[in-house]
Amino acid sequence: MNGNSKTIFNSILSGEIPSHKIYEDESVYAFLDINPLSRGHTLVIPKEECPTMDGLSENAASSLGSALPKICRAIMKVTGAKNYNLIQNNGEKAGQTVPHLHFHIIPRYPESTHSFIWNPSPIDHSDATELSKAIFRELE
Ligand code: AMP
Repeated sequence: MNGNSKTIFNSILSGEIPSHKIYEDESVYAFLDINPLSRGHTLVIPKEECPTMDGLSENAASSLGSALPKICRAIMKVTGAKNYNLIQNNGEKAGQTVPHLHFHIIPRYPESTHSFIWNPSPIDHSDATELSKAIFRELE
């Protein structure tokens, strides 16, 4: 994965590669995933070229944030799905294969069998006390 090169999503944005578009505004584009986990699996991307969330500009983040809920509502209404996962991978080791920031909206139906690996363990409160303070300070 190379965050500096043009990605397949740039080619979709430019129209070079076709896509099943479901939404577009000045800063955001959404289209159906070519290998869906379920019917209606959608990708929502900022038009700004940015591989991961931490690099996104405030303006692009704001546009993306306001587009997401309405896109979710439309997908749920049209597909009839009552549940969905909103997933966003950052970095190859985190499962990201296309280095252009994107949210997955994945409807879940009663018959859906897709799963996400999630093996939680109880929080270490002593580490959490330090960690939360450090991140809090970073964000001040
Ligand atoms: P991620 O693994 O989170 O980077 O997700 C990338 C997603 O992009 C995968 O779910 C792919 O199926 C999807 N994808 C790759 N190429 C295309 C394409 N040309 N049109 C639509 N979806 C695509």
